[in-house]
Amino acid sequence: MPPLLRSIADGVIRIDLQFHGRPQVIAAYLLYDGREAALVETGPTSTMEKLLEGVQAAGVPLEALRHLIVTHIHLDHAGASGALIQRLPWARVYVHPVGAPHLVDPSRLLASAARIYGDLLKPLWGEVIPVPADRLAVVSDGERLTVAGHTLIAFDTPGHARHHHAFLDETTGLLFTGDIAGVRLPGIRYVRPPTPPPELDLEAWSNSIARLRALKASGLCLTHFDVHREDIEWHWEDLERRLWEWGHQIREMMAENLEEAEMVKRLRERADEELRAAGADPEFYDVAVSYESVVAGYLRYWRKRAAATASGMRG
Ligand SMILES: [Zn+2]
Repeated sequence: MPPLLRSIADGVIRIDLQFHGRPQVIAAYLLYDGREAALVETGPTSTMEKLLEGVQAAGVPLEALRHLIVTHIHLDHAGASGALIQRLPWARVYVHPVGAPHLVDPSRLLASAARIYGDLLKPLWGEVIPVPADRLAVVSDGERLTVAGHTLIAFDTPGHARHHHAFLDETTGLLFTGDIAGVRLPGIRYVRPPTPPPELDLEAWSNSIARLRALKASGLCLTHFDVHREDIEWHWEDLERRLWEWGHQIREMMAENLEEAEMVKRLRERADEELRAAGADPEFYDVAVSYESVVAGYLRYWRKRAAATASGMRG
C-alpha cells in the first residue's frame, strides 16, 4: 500500500484517503504551520476516519484543525464536511456560494447522487450530515484566505460543476484543482475529464482551463490524484483535447441514435486501450470517474444545448 502521507511542499502534506481500501483514488491536502491547520478537501464521510488518522499522523492535534476548504460539493470532495463539523465544532467549512445552500440542506444533492449511485449511495460515500449555517464561510471569486501559514486565492472555475473553486497557494505556487484539472494517476501520462451530470459545460471548462493555465502554478494538486509538476502545460492540453474529443464522439453517437449502454461500451473500448498504452490500469481511472457517469454528463449537456438552441429559435 502506498503511504498515507506525503510531504509535497513546506507545510503541505497529501493524505491518501484510501477509498474503500484503494490507494491513489481520493486525496486531501493538509496545510499546517505548527499553530493551526487547514484541509483542502474533506473527502466523503466513508473515509473520515482515515482522514483524521492522517491528520494526527502528520503531527497535527485535532484542536488545531480549524479550516475545511472544499473545491466543490460533490460527495468525494466535501461529503464529510458535516460529519467533521460534528467532530470538530470549532472548525469552519469554506465553500462556493452556489454550493453553500446544499451543504446546509443536502437533500437535493443526495437526491441527485442517488440517481447515479442508487442503493450504493450510502455504502460508497457514508452518511451526509448538514453543515450548520453558522459554521459555513462562503468564499467568492478572487477572495484570499489566510489560513495555516498559507494564502490561498479562490478561482471560480465552472465546467465540471457550477459550484467549483480552484485555489492557488501563493506561498508555494501550488494549485489545488479539485476536478477542474481532471483525473490522473501519479506517473501516468493520461488525463481523464470527469464529466458527470448535471452541470457539465464544455465552454465554461475551456475558459476555466485558460484562466488557471495563466497562473503558471508550480504544481497541480489533483484530488484524483496527487501533485503533478513536471509537465503542467502538457497536462492542461491533454485534458482539454480529450474533453472535447469525447464530447464530439458522444455527439456523433447521439446522431446515430445509439443506446446509452452502447455509447459507454464504445467509449470504454477506445479509452481503455489508450490507458493501457499509457501504462495505466484502466480500473483505477474507472473508480475515480466511471464511463457511465462520463457519458450521462455529455448526454445531458448536448440535450440542454439543443433545447436552448430550439427555444432561442422560437423566441
Ligand atoms: Zn466533482
